[in-house]
Amino acid sequence: KGKLYICPTPIGNLEDITLRVLRTLKEVDIIAAEDTRHTINLLRHFSIQKPLTSYHEHNEKNKSQYLIDKLLEGESIALVSDAGMPGISDPGEVLIKACIQQDIPFEVLPGATASILALVASGLSTRRFAFEGFLDRDRKKRKERLEKIKLEDRTLVFYEAPHRVADTLQDMIDILGNREAVIARELTKKYEEFIRGRLNEVYQYLQENPPKGEMVLLCGGISLEEEVRREQETFQHLTIREHIS
Ligand code: SAM
Repeated sequence: KGKLYICPTPIGNLEDITLRVLRTLKEVDIIAAEDTRHTINLLRHFSIQKPLTSYHEHNEKNKSQYLIDKLLEGESIALVSDAGMPGISDPGEVLIKACIQQDIPFEVLPGATASILALVASGLSTRRFAFEGFLDRDRKKRKERLEKIKLEDRTLVFYEAPHRVADTLQDMIDILGNREAVIARELTKKYEEFIRGRLNEVYQYLQENPPKGEMVLLCGGISLEEEVRREQETFQHLTIREHIS
């Protein structure tokens, strides 16, 4: 059997690729990439030439079987995504599950991922956190998700696109309340920026400075005071209902 290597790649600054990832990319037989054109540029930068095959969300299921067959034939494969850690809001999960089921050895190499960098730099509590990835594009579903996690007391970490962030912030203010929030933008790149404040302050800032580039949106978990306030509200509703009945 061959072996699968999950290889994180830089999220901006090319110096963030690890020596181990570089060695692995040089040693494997095939590199499976989310976007082969994107990965060719990365490989070219590091003078690596390898056969590439595509592995993205639209062919993840079918392509997994193809890659598994290659692994069973004894080939070694590196999986990379466009940026950061494969499997984190990127393809990877299906292939790893298949490897576990079929007893194919694999290794996950450590490296860059936007979520952890943003969390640590945010100044919000890092003691406990919940990674939410992308919220749904559909407003109704997005709101449903926020409703589901509004009592969560861990720091919340979201990935978000610049053209949707204003709507998302608005929904968060409505559903989560005006909590502390941080936008971590263009991490490891030239115009890296952190916008910190209450959700409404961050919203206001973005109205005046429309955001560009990639961003992670974080907010605090529910505070003790908010929890007490919400419980009192529920209690009031209940007593009112008791009075009515
Ligand atoms: N696998 C990646 C990781 O480990 O972070 C995430 C891939 S996901 C498709 C892309 C999202 O990650 C972006 O929309 C953004 O929310 C976040 N992201 C990636 N690179 C970033 C950067 N340099 N600065 C801020 N956010 C980034």
